[in-house]
Amino acid sequence: MSPLDAAPPSSAPRINPLQRIWLREIGMERLWLRPAPAAPRPAVAPPAEVSRQAAPVPPPAAMTEAPAPMPPAAPQAAAGPAAEPAPARPGVPASILNRSGPPPRPAPKAEAKAAEPPPIPVAEAVKNSNLEQLAEQVVACTACGLCQGRRHAVFGQGASPTRWLVVGEAPGEQEDRQGQPFVGRSGQLLDAMLSAVGMSRERDVFITNVIKCRPPGNRNPKPEEIAACSPYLMRQIALLKPERILVLGRFAAQTLLGTDATIGSLRGRIHQLKTDEGAEIPVVVSYHPAYLLRSPSEKARAWQDLKLASRTL
Ligand code: SF4
Repeated sequence: MSPLDAAPPSSAPRINPLQRIWLREIGMERLWLRPAPAAPRPAVAPPAEVSRQAAPVPPPAAMTEAPAPMPPAAPQAAAGPAAEPAPARPGVPASILNRSGPPPRPAPKAEAKAAEPPPIPVAEAVKNSNLEQLAEQVVACTACGLCQGRRHAVFGQGASPTRWLVVGEAPGEQEDRQGQPFVGRSGQLLDAMLSAVGMSRERDVFITNVIKCRPPGNRNPKPEEIAACSPYLMRQIALLKPERILVLGRFAAQTLLGTDATIGSLRGRIHQLKTDEGAEIPVVVSYHPAYLLRSPSEKARAWQDLKLASRTL
């Protein structure tokens, strides 16, 4: 079958055999039967391989309904606690870049604070002090816990050089307030007792205590407080060089004489205190004025003690 017998393209007008013969005769058959120019073909997506190389592939319908495209990366400052720390930038502290992180540590000081030297024991600190320096050391002393509750450390008061050194136990409330030893009613009674034997607080006597700071509630000083403070008293004795020591009260007598004997067994006789320089100082024990105020009947014995001290002069 000749190509002319073939069925015309579907786009050619349909003709019958007679019409075909007639068209052949006039030489129009080919023209008539030539298919019409093809209509512009719709765009067809190129093969996948080509599209990957030449043009972006439009997303399939399923993907167009997918979740919205990822937003641009959030800045680091808005990231949650688990966000990676921001990369270091030259000249910018990491703590500024990573604000959600832990607070910055303080930079170590260039020079570490030098370790505090151990405190010098009181006995070592006072061994070369004069009386004025010793008073300054007592006022500034923190060698035991009594420094924490004191208003004033009570160094002592009186004549220097002195004839009698009067030693009490520890400051009471009034002494702590005023910074002076034996004030108030006890102090007035002591002044009267001294005056009875011709002694004056200002002229002949230096008055102090074994403990320089008031124990809370006037409790008895603890052994460690006595041990810390007694070097001040020993230095006062060495500097004042008293002719006599009058010790008032059980606690002061036991501390100064190094005994736990009762005050009843210690009073009524002369004791000797040996100093570091080898000298011996007579010591007389008597009742504390505060005790005499509570027990006036004991004033007669206290008077005997004062006469004993006066006789030994
Ligand atoms: Fe220093 Fe004596 Fe006072 Fe204690 S009681 S802080 S050792 S002065």
